[in-house]
This record gives sequence, structure tokens and C-alpha cells, in this order.
Amino acid sequence: MKYQSDIEIAQSKELKHIKEIAQKINVKEDDLEMYGKYKAKLPLSLIDDEQIAQNNLVLVTALTPTPAGEGKTTTSIGLTEGLNKIGKQATVVLREPSLGPVFGIKGGAAGGGFSQVVPMEDINLHFTGDFNAVEKANNLLSALIDNNIQSKTNNLNIDPRTILWKRVIDMNDRSLRDITIGLGGTANGVPRQDGFNITPASEVMAILCMASDLENLKERLGNIFIGFTYDNKPIFAKDLKAENAMAILLKDAIKPNLVQTLEENPAIIHGGPFANIAQGTNTIIATKMGLSLSNYVVTEAGFGADLGAEKFLNIKSQFAKLNPKCVVLVATIRALRHHGGAKSEDYNTPSLEKVKDGFKNLEKHIENIRKFNIEPVVAVNAFTSDSEEEIDFVVKKCANLGVTAVLSKGWEKGGEGTTELAKAVVEVVEHKASNYKPLYDWKSPIKDKIEVIAKEIYGAINVEYSKQAQLNLRRIDRLGFNDFAVCMAKTQKSFSDNDALIGRPENFTVTVREIEIASGAQFVIPILGKMMRMPGLPAKPASENMSIDKNGVISGLS
Ligand code: ADP
Ligand code: MG
Repeated sequence: MKYQSDIEIAQSKELKHIKEIAQKINVKEDDLEMYGKYKAKLPLSLIDDEQIAQNNLVLVTALTPTPAGEGKTTTSIGLTEGLNKIGKQATVVLREPSLGPVFGIKGGAAGGGFSQVVPMEDINLHFTGDFNAVEKANNLLSALIDNNIQSKTNNLNIDPRTILWKRVIDMNDRSLRDITIGLGGTANGVPRQDGFNITPASEVMAILCMASDLENLKERLGNIFIGFTYDNKPIFAKDLKAENAMAILLKDAIKPNLVQTLEENPAIIHGGPFANIAQGTNTIIATKMGLSLSNYVVTEAGFGADLGAEKFLNIKSQFAKLNPKCVVLVATIRALRHHGGAKSEDYNTPSLEKVKDGFKNLEKHIENIRKFNIEPVVAVNAFTSDSEEEIDFVVKKCANLGVTAVLSKGWEKGGEGTTELAKAVVEVVEHKASNYKPLYDWKSPIKDKIEVIAKEIYGAINVEYSKQAQLNLRRIDRLGFNDFAVCMAKTQKSFSDNDALIGRPENFTVTVREIEIASGAQFVIPILGKMMRMPGLPAKPASENMSIDKNGVISGLS
């Protein structure tokens, strides 16, 4: 049987005007800032703390994924459709896609099959310009830094060799990782080494996602740490008087975007930090907006639960005082086969033995979620290659652990395929009083926070620090940043810092190679193993399969 592609399904849907979607969550047309007929920005004045406290937050995360992704976005959207089908008023709140993965390997991030948010082309491409605004705000600061170094009269004495701030672009472009700028003589700047990160790795993105309002955004932007002067004084963005101009560029980007699902339910999509090098969830403002307007909010945290969910629960929920009531752990039979040792060419070949062996990965994630005092529900994202005996095994094993596991068919059927999952989630939300607590207190020392995550969540027996990381720790201490959250940068392919260790690795040590500072976001970022802040394209990028016809109709975007 040939299935329609994601974009074919999305394009065959006749969209409702966004004002009709807004009506469903009692937002007046007059409050919408329209971007055409199908996209609108929501004003921050709609955020309502009383509603936030009463409504229900559900986090969707996953087991350790294969490179294709295991369907968190698809399941988040599908679950939202299912909740609405069983009579709950639910909104899905998601991150904005980055162009790097869209044109690289992974594809877009607007869901899949019959669980998508639309208009999918717009959402996956420039959308409402938020990523552009983040990029411009980031690069304005870069321009101000280099201009300051050039200036003879207005010079802060910045030592160019200490500058940590990089430029960003939303593209997988490895040749920009390490560059030299300012060549060409005295009129063209002071030469120094620089580089580009991808926009979702920018601290400005992290800040946008942590900010509570425009004032707070400004304060955070001002607190960005740039580097040192020749006499070793720290320099922040506010020393360059950059924060107001940067915030001006973000004045619209701070407002959440409203779109719709294929079944005409509300979807709020806003902010897009990666989960392996940043906090990996949509803006706090968008989550709060969803909870202000909707009885159920389903949201996603990137990659596996060791990364996205850990940060969602320790950083975002703790800081924003959110109270997630249920965590949906997405599992796929193919990923379980992978963790049981299947090669990628065999991911779609049934093997009960491999699934049995791979289950230990899911089991560790279940244990981890419970450490936060939240009950998980397992959603087995159904693929056509799953066998009944493999699914039965997973459902029974989960039941032995006291966890409901439900086959989720959102990809194939939309809300019709997820009503059982929706009921299981409602059961946990309404009857199994989850009592969320974070794993660490922000005020504890940095090393303690890292150790809690590495030992409790990853299952490491020890944490080692490189010489560089030890120097970084001293710098953090000197700058007074010990009470920042810890935003771990680690491979998404393993619980450990080694891609090759699939399943549930044991007896391993993780090594903190260096620790970056994101003082505007109020994180330190311990980097475990080799992490890329600027990905490259694969030999045959997804862009080669895309086309646009004379009427502007796009195909091949996935
Ligand atoms: P994640 O959010 O976990 O990265 P996505 O939901 O974006 O994963 O899904 C990744 C890709 O897998 C998408 O292209 C989506 O269309 C596809 N996909 C998701 N679920 C299924 C499924 N059940 N069957 C087939 N393809 C699926
Ligand atoms: Mg996703």
C-alpha cells in the first residue's frame, strides 16, 4: 500500500481561517495579529496565571531515538486531536522547526501523516519570522562587538581573543564553524577568529524561550556574557548598551504563533532551541499562553527523555513554576529493535528477541520519569512494520511496571487513532495525583547539579572533568554564576556521552569537556563528548528532493 506523503496530506486539507481556530479558545478576532489567513500572533496580555494553575500540562518525550526521530511531534499532535475527540479542550504547544534539519537529514518538525500542524510549508520555512529575528538580534550584538573593537573613541578595551560570542545562521553550514573576520586592512575591522553557530543553538534563542515578558527579555539580553577586557574584566551585552536594540528586533518574536492541526484544533508554535545543546522546548511564554487558554496543553521536549524531558523538568518547569501532570513516553518498536542491537537496515524487520533486549532502554526512561514524581504513560507509535507479538510484549512489560502502554495510531488515523491514548492520559491526570518535583535545586553547586543528572538520569557511575572544564568551573565561580541551571549538552543517541552505547549502558563515566556560560539564559552548559553547535549537511541533503512549480506549490518537503 502506498501512503501519501506528509506534504500531500497537508496540502489536501482545506484550512479554516485562523479567527475560527481562535474562537475555540475564546480569543477574539480583535486580539489576533494576523499573518495572512492561517497564522496569527497572540498578545501576551492573554496570559492568565489563575488559568495556568488550574489547567493540565502533559509533556511528550521519548526513549533514546534513532536518527529518524520516533514521532514525538506526531504523537503530541495526535494526542491533542484525540483529547479533543473525547471531549477535552486541548491545545498542542510546540517548537518552531529549524531550516538546518529541514534541508539536511531529519526533515521538518510539523508532525507526520494525519497528525500534522498546518500550513506545514510555512511552519517549516520562514513561518512568522521569529528565527530571523533571533538571528538578527544575535548578529547585531556581534556587529556591536566588532565595531567597539574597531573604535578609537568608544572602546571598552575588549581582548578579541577572549570573545565567546559567535554569529548565527539558520542553516547547516559546516564551513562557517571556524572563520577569520576583519581582514582587508584598517578600514575593515580588527582581524580575529570567529565562527557561526546554527540559530537554534544561539543564546538569544535560549533567552527568548526562558523570558517571561519584554522587560525580562531585555534584562536577560543585557546579561549575555561576551568575554574579557585586556585587564580581565568581564564584558556583558549591557556594557555595549545592546539590550534595547536587541529587544526591539525581538518585539514580535516574543509573541506566540497560533496555527491549526489537521483536525482544526489550536496549535501554538513558538521558539525553537535544540535539545542536545540548548533547553529543547518551546518558549515558556507559549506554554503559559496554552495553559491560559486551554484545559489541556500537550507539549514536546526534544530528543530522548534524558535530554529534553530532564531539561523541561529541571530547568523550565522549576523556573516557570509549571506543574506537569503526566509524561507521555513515545516508544517505537523500531527503536526498541535498535536498542536490542538491530542494524539500521533491519529496523523494519520484526524481531521479538531484539525488542525484548531493547526494552531496557525504555525501562530506564520510565524509572527516570518517576524520579520526578510523575506517572508516565507509554505511547507505542505504531509503524506498519510492527508485529503484534512485539507490541504485546511491550504492553505487558509496561503493565508489569505499573505503566499503561497504549498503541498510538495518530500518524495513520489522526485523532481517531489516539482516543485510547487520550483516555489513558486523562486517567493519569485526573486520578493519579502526580506531584512533580525537580531533581535538583538551582541553588546547589554546579558540580552537584551535574552529578545528579549524570548519575540519576544517565546512570553514570562517575563524572570526570577535563582541564578545560576545571578552568571553566573556576571562571563560573569567579563570575558568581553558581546558582545557574545546568543545561547539559550531550549526544541524543545514548544515555551516556558515547554514541555507540545503545540500550541501557552501565558502569560508564561521563566526561565534561568544557562548560559554556549562557548568563542571559541563566544556564551553564556542560559539554559532554564532542557536540556540534553548527551541523553539516549530509552528502545527499533532503533539499535535493524538493521542488516548487510555477504556481508556487511545493513538493518533497517532509
Ligand atoms: P520527533 O518529534 O520525535 O523527532 P516526528 O514526530 O517529527 O519525530 O517524526 C519524525 C518522522 O517520522 C516524521 O517524518 C514523521 O512523518 C514520521 N513518523 C512519525 N510517526 C510515524 C509512524 N507511526 N509511521 C510512519 N512514519 C512516522
Ligand atoms: Mg519533534
